[in-house]
Amino acid sequence: MPQEKQADQKMGANSGEQISEYDFSRCKLCAANTARPKYTLKNTTVYACDACDFHFINHLDSLPSETPSDAAIPLDRKALDYIEGRLPDSEKQLRKNLLLVKRHLSLSGAHCLDIGAGAGLFAHLLAEAGAVVHGIEPQSIFRQFAQRKFGIALKRETIDARYWQQGFSGFFDVVTLWDVFEHVNFPAETLQNAYDVIKPGGWLFLDTPRRNALYYRISEWSYRLSNGENPLFLESLYSPLPFRHKQLFTQRQLLKLVEKTGFSVVHMQSSLLRQHNKMVIVCRKQ
Ligand SMILES: [Zn+2]
Repeated sequence: MPQEKQADQKMGANSGEQISEYDFSRCKLCAANTARPKYTLKNTTVYACDACDFHFINHLDSLPSETPSDAAIPLDRKALDYIEGRLPDSEKQLRKNLLLVKRHLSLSGAHCLDIGAGAGLFAHLLAEAGAVVHGIEPQSIFRQFAQRKFGIALKRETIDARYWQQGFSGFFDVVTLWDVFEHVNFPAETLQNAYDVIKPGGWLFLDTPRRNALYYRISEWSYRLSNGENPLFLESLYSPLPFRHKQLFTQRQLLKLVEKTGFSVVHMQSSLLRQHNKMVIVCRKQ
C-alpha cells in the first residue's frame, strides 16, 4: 500500500526560475513538447509524455520557499514534539540506507551531502559514522529542528544555487537523495546539479517510488474502466501541495536518466518487497 511517508517533511532541490510560465506540454524528462493530460484528479492533472511516457503533474513548487512568514515560524514545543515523534519511522529505513552506503565506501572523513535532509536524521547518522556532513533543507522549521536536535546546520540553498555549484564543484565523495527525487520540480536538472558537485569517482545514492509497481497499474486500469471516476491510488500518489509527489519514474526511465547524466550504475534494487515499492540506485561519477 503506497503511503506518503514523510512527504510533508521532505523536499529536495531545484528552484527553477521559469516556474510561473512553465508549459507542461514540455516533458520534464525528455524535454520534447509531447506531454498531454492523461489523468484528471481532484486537485491536479497527471501529464504523460507521448515520446518517453514520463508521468508528472501540472504543478511546481515556488522556491525558494522561505517567504518572510515561513522564516518566522518558530520551532515551538508542539512542532518539535511532532517532528520528533515521526523520527523512529524514518530511522529504520535510514539506518538501512546507511548500511548500503557503508557497503560501498568508508565514511570516515568522507565529504557527504544529503539533499532534502528533512529533520537531519540521515545527516546525523553520517556524522556518527565519521563523515564530514553537509545537508540541504529549504524548510526553515526542519533546519531549526536539525540544529537543535543534532547540532547540524543544514543549508537553505537548493542544489542549483551558486553556493553549491560554484563553491562545491566536483567536491563531494557522496551525495544522497533519499525520498526526494519524486518531490523536486525538475528531477533531470537536480540530478545534473548533483553530478556536478560530486568528485570524479564519487558516489550517488538515490531512492524513489517505482511507477511500474502493481498498485500504480491497477489504479490506471481503474481510472480507464471508470472513465476517471475511480483513480484509486493515483489521488494519493500525486499532490499539488508543497513538496509532495510531482512525478514518478519507471525503473527504465530512472536508469536511462542516470546514465545520460554521466553516472555509471553500480547497483540497483527494485523489489516489490521493499517498503513503498521503492527503487534504490547506487551510481558513480566516471
Ligand atoms: Zn518525455
